[in-house]
Amino acid sequence: MAHAEIPYRVVLKISPIHGKGCYAGEPIPAGAFIIEYSGELIAAEEAYRREADPERTGIYTFWAGDDWAIDGYREGNDARFINHSCTPNCDYRIADRRVLIHAAQDIAEGEELTIDYSFSPEGERISCCCGSPDCRGQINSAGDGD
Ligand SMILES: [Zn+2]
Repeated sequence: MAHAEIPYRVVLKISPIHGKGCYAGEPIPAGAFIIEYSGELIAAEEAYRREADPERTGIYTFWAGDDWAIDGYREGNDARFINHSCTPNCDYRIADRRVLIHAAQDIAEGEELTIDYSFSPEGERISCCCGSPDCRGQINSAGDGD
């Protein structure tokens, strides 16, 4: 089980994808644990309520399975700045209601860290600016095929 320490350095910079992004502060090898998505652990019902709250800018709830989400809005760490990409260089593993972000490939120093958010295809469509040649045009996962 990985723990909450941060073995690889990350830095925050303005991102061409969206707002501030999270960048590798040093080379990170494929498979390495990078950072935990930290925040407040909340139940699904509360997560839906917060995602619908118009006072909030951006979505900082990260689902850890179907019943729980981590809300990084107030108590989050740098992981909440990791942007979505349709061809991400990181993946996340959910274990014991925690979200652990790992390198999906070798990442060079200065490269922006990205994950595939795979928002529900049934939810509101959020357009994607990841710039990948394989961009699907929306952050929602493809699912209903239109
Ligand atoms: Zn995209």
